[in-house]
Amino acid sequence: MNVPLLDLKEQNASLRPEIEAALGRVLDTNAFILGGEVAELECELAGYCGTKFAIGCASGSDALLLAMMAFDIGPGDEVITTPYSFFATVSAITRLGATPVFVDIDPQTYNLDASQLEAKITEKTRAIQPVHLYGQCADMAAINEIAKRRGIAVVEDAAQAIGAEENGVRAGAMSDVGCFSFYPSKNLGGMGDGGFMTTGDDAVAEKLMALRVHGSKERYYHKWVGLNSRLDGFQGAILRVKLPHLDAWSDARKANADRYRTLFHDAGLAEQIGLPFERENCRHIYNQFVIRVPEHRDALRAFLTESGVGTDIYYPVPLHLQECFAYLGYETGDLPESERAARETLALPIFPELKPEQQEYVVEMIRKFFDFRS
Ligand SMILES: *Cc1c(COP(=O)(O)O)cnc(C)c1O
Repeated sequence: MNVPLLDLKEQNASLRPEIEAALGRVLDTNAFILGGEVAELECELAGYCGTKFAIGCASGSDALLLAMMAFDIGPGDEVITTPYSFFATVSAITRLGATPVFVDIDPQTYNLDASQLEAKITEKTRAIQPVHLYGQCADMAAINEIAKRRGIAVVEDAAQAIGAEENGVRAGAMSDVGCFSFYPSKNLGGMGDGGFMTTGDDAVAEKLMALRVHGSKERYYHKWVGLNSRLDGFQGAILRVKLPHLDAWSDARKANADRYRTLFHDAGLAEQIGLPFERENCRHIYNQFVIRVPEHRDALRAFLTESGVGTDIYYPVPLHLQECFAYLGYETGDLPESERAARETLALPIFPELKPEQQEYVVEMIRKFFDFRS
């Protein structure tokens, strides 16, 4: 059997007539950059996230960068974040000359450990940037409480978490700015690069809208030095076809996660591997289903690859140990839970169209691997 980590063929085939019609609308209007489809999408996304504004841009990486620029983050400033995330989480900070300050993760959720946060705040701290890793919100109640008390901005890296909730509030609506990605592997993926930002603040929204078009509110008059970072009309039109299906897809991912849980328990594997932890009163959208394999992770991965099961490691090198950030002076051992997660985690196929037989096969192969080892 072949079980890819992600397979978009079925999803795309089912939407193909609608997508072709949507692309035709863009061709007819020639609105290739921003334009009507993107404006409609932005309204729909604001409604979906429960925020006053949603503002399209060229990628999730740019969304993070633009958010930092909106708060004038720069040299001499510190931004607190997690080292266990995608690269762009931190490059958005360093690209502006600011200094990332890492807080280790909670080993259960893989998200920034809020209990270690306050100790890292200094007079230079300008923002806190938690990541909702794998589709589950960081402990925003705790993070926001600290941020409010200390008067520090919060930017959510919600690239993996569109539709995730904490106490009924959606990702992107829990902070000053939420940052999202339409990279094809996200729950709401485009057919190319794209991203957006959410905010409830009129002045921040106005600045973000200007920053994505070189900092101009009126053409050729530049209030700030921004970026060229716009969502294109084709992406906007495609994403409008996909957005109405997003909740059903995320629910299907959750159903697949529940099925894995049962299968792992039934196979007697629940002791050997760590299953994803679900926080109470939270909606996890399972952008990734990540297990913890304390022993033989790499051998298991090789065995699964041979058996036709696609997997990946998010992320093999925590950001504080990346070569390009050596100047920050972190050493191995400084953030032990992030380093342990980098050694022990493995992402399994979880996409909405995954079949129960395929999941049974994945778990069966993992059982076979551990039977063979013992
Ligand atoms: C995908 C992702 C990004 C970047 O999004 P792009 O659209 O690929 O630029 C940023 N942060 C996290 C956590 C992501 O998963």
